[in-house]
Order: sequence, then structure tokens, then C-alpha cells
Amino acid sequence: MEPIIDAEQARNLSLFRPLGYQRNSCGYCKSENGSASYYTSSLSVRPLHYEELVKRGWRRSGTLYYKPNLGRSCCPHYTMRLEAAAFKPRKDQRKAINRWNNFILGPEYMRRAAYLCPKTREEKKRRKGHFDLLAAVHETEYSNVKRPIDPKTKKLLEPAHRFEVNLEGDSVSQAKFNLFLKYQTTVHKEDVSKWQTKDFERFLCSGLKRSPANPKSEEKKLGSWHQCYRLDGKLIAVAVLDLMPSGLSSVYIFYDPDYEQWEFGKLSAMREIALTLEGPYHYYYMGYYIHSCQKMRYKGAYRPQYILDPESYTWDPLDGELSKKLDQRSYVSLSRDRRLASEGMSESTAEAKTEINDEEVSLFDVHMPGVMTLEEVKAVDLDHWLLLVHGSFVHMIDLVGWERMPLDSPQSIKGIIAELAATLGPEVIKNSAAVLFD
Ligand SMILES: [Zn+2]
Repeated sequence: MEPIIDAEQARNLSLFRPLGYQRNSCGYCKSENGSASYYTSSLSVRPLHYEELVKRGWRRSGTLYYKPNLGRSCCPHYTMRLEAAAFKPRKDQRKAINRWNNFILGPEYMRRAAYLCPKTREEKKRRKGHFDLLAAVHETEYSNVKRPIDPKTKKLLEPAHRFEVNLEGDSVSQAKFNLFLKYQTTVHKEDVSKWQTKDFERFLCSGLKRSPANPKSEEKKLGSWHQCYRLDGKLIAVAVLDLMPSGLSSVYIFYDPDYEQWEFGKLSAMREIALTLEGPYHYYYMGYYIHSCQKMRYKGAYRPQYILDPESYTWDPLDGELSKKLDQRSYVSLSRDRRLASEGMSESTAEAKTEINDEEVSLFDVHMPGVMTLEEVKAVDLDHWLLLVHGSFVHMIDLVGWERMPLDSPQSIKGIIAELAATLGPEVIKNSAAVLFD
């Protein structure tokens, strides 16, 4: 039989294995089944398609992709992003970079360098009233540090430490795993037995499809990368990053706890905002924002932040109206509020959430915010959506009995496929295939 797509087309597809809707315990308020998400898994997602998903409220944890149901959650997870070009670092953030840079150079180097390669008057003036994020982030990387010959010692003037940062593929290595274990057991107080190499690999080394193949290439980097920080040749921090055409998503950071005093959370966030500008990737995603969680509020310290409306998928500033409403109720969609107001209804008079067992009914009966309705899915040509079965692509309609299967039953294959389509959304459907039976 002729394959229905060629190898080139197959390479450009994202693949999704539907795992379905599930209720879960909540790590934030510790409720037993307070949160719920739709899940899919994949080893093959294109950065462009992931960006589409992120803009529909999805996020990934390793090879698991999920879209939380904000309408039925004790602690709703709002997608947030920072507009990098408008970012103004606060005093404590600037201070963290300056402290780190002083540590790298050391007092001896700074004293001799001030004498051997003094800054011009203009340079001093410019630096005094102005904090240049890009300059501050890159200043003490070893390749940027001026090393004149010191006439006193007849040797090159060396900084106190050799600091290097490189973007490398998100592959697993023993050095990364050792650092990760040290971080998890010290900072998060986890038991060392919790993590095997393969768990670490699935969690932080199995991300989006990456390009270009050669990290030294000048081509814009996309996909999942590890930003590796080395001090005097030793790996001290790894930031896991998802690079998308118009967004940089911070996935995780682990660092050597011996360097905790240097505030790697701040250092890495500012380095990532700098990379967002340089890419350019435009928007910096720090992960979900949970208003009720005090521990999350630090993300709001990087401004200006915007929150994804769970229904219209438009962006609203976190400050102001949205923040005020989130103080009063956990689920807020400003687009929904506006619609209700135009219909003369308030949030409190709108239909109350019906008590349903959302794990037993079809996803279409759960009325999860931002998911396509059954009517909308019916308008999509699911019959010719691609399905990967035992390594080859077929159309859904090629499945025996497909036409007779009910669309709204979570037990039928068609129902499973329809739920996947409804959560992925129309754009990603066009460029993806579902994976079943392999
Ligand atoms: Zn909760």
C-alpha cells in the first residue's frame, strides 16, 4: 500500500498519544482531588505546535503534556507570560547580577583592571544611571572578560573565576544527573532513591524536537535545550528551556546548593529574559501562575506579566482588574465576565456549576474552559486526521467501524480521538497525528 504521507511530511508532524481527563491531588493546597487536567504524552512535538498549545493553556512535564481544567480546580493554573522588551529589572534583581559579577571577577582583578584598562568617562557615565540587562548578563562570561598582560607579573590578568554559559542539547549526562540529585535532595529534601537516571531523562531530557542540529550554528534555536552554567570548568547549574518561534518557556532550573547564596532563581530568570530579547523570542513564560499560592507571587516580580484568558485565549495584564478579581474568586475569565455583563448577568447569577462526576462523563459534558465544543469538533474533518498505528500512518476513517462509533462516548476510539482534537485545537490538529495501538 502507498503511504498516505511522505517522509518529509511525517517529519513535520507532532504526535500525540491521548491519555484522557483525570482528577488529581493538588500539590499547592494539598487537597486530595482538587485539580483536574486533560493529558497526552509525546516524544515528538514541534516547537511551533507546542507554542500553539501553550497559547491554549497547555504545559509539559517531561514527555507528559497537560491542559488543566481551570473551571474545576481548587488552585487554577493560569498561563502567564512576560513581555521581554518591556521588562525593567527591580533593584533586588539588578543587585543579584552585580553581586555575581563581582564574585566572578574578584577584588584583585577589578583593582588591576581599573588601572590597566580603565573605563572611559562616557562609559562610566552611561553605567551610572542605567542598568543594561544584556551587558550585565554577559559581562563576566570568560570570553567577554578583558585579560590584558599585567606588566607587574608579565602574565595575563585573570578573573577570580572562569564562568561559562552554553546552550546545549537536552540530552542526559552523568554530570547533569549528579547535579540534579544534589539539588533535589538538598533543596527539595527528596530521598535519593526517588530518582533513577531514566526518570531524570524522562523529566528533563526528553523535550521538544530541537533545531539546528549543531548548537554552534547561527540559526535561531528552537526546541528543548539545556543552558549549562560552568564555574572553573565544573557544571554548577542547568536551566531547562523550551524555545519556540515567539516564546521562551522556562521549564526547570537545578543548581549546586553550594552556590545557593547567589540566588540562581534570579540570575537564571534574567539570563533567560536576555536570551528572549536576543533570539528574539519576544515572550518569556515562567510557568503557571497560581494566585492563591504565596510561593508563586515571586513571578509577579518580573513585570509586565500577562495572563491568558482561559476562554478567549487573549492576554490580560495581571495587574489591575484581573488581580483584584482573583482576590475574590479563584476562576476568572475577563472575556466571560464581559459577555455576562453585556447579557445583564453577573458571575453570581450565571449558571451554577452542576455537580457531575467529571471522570465518568465525556469531556464535552465537563464544559472545560477553552476546549472545543462537540459541535465545533464535528465541523473538523476528523475522518482524515492522521493516526499512527504500529508505525504507519492511516486516516481515522480507515479504522474498521469508525463511521458507526459515537463521538461523545469516552469509551469509544472516536470519542477518545474527539477529546484529543478538542483540547489540541484546530491549528495543531492540522499538523499532527494521534498515536494508538503500538
Ligand atoms: Zn489546590
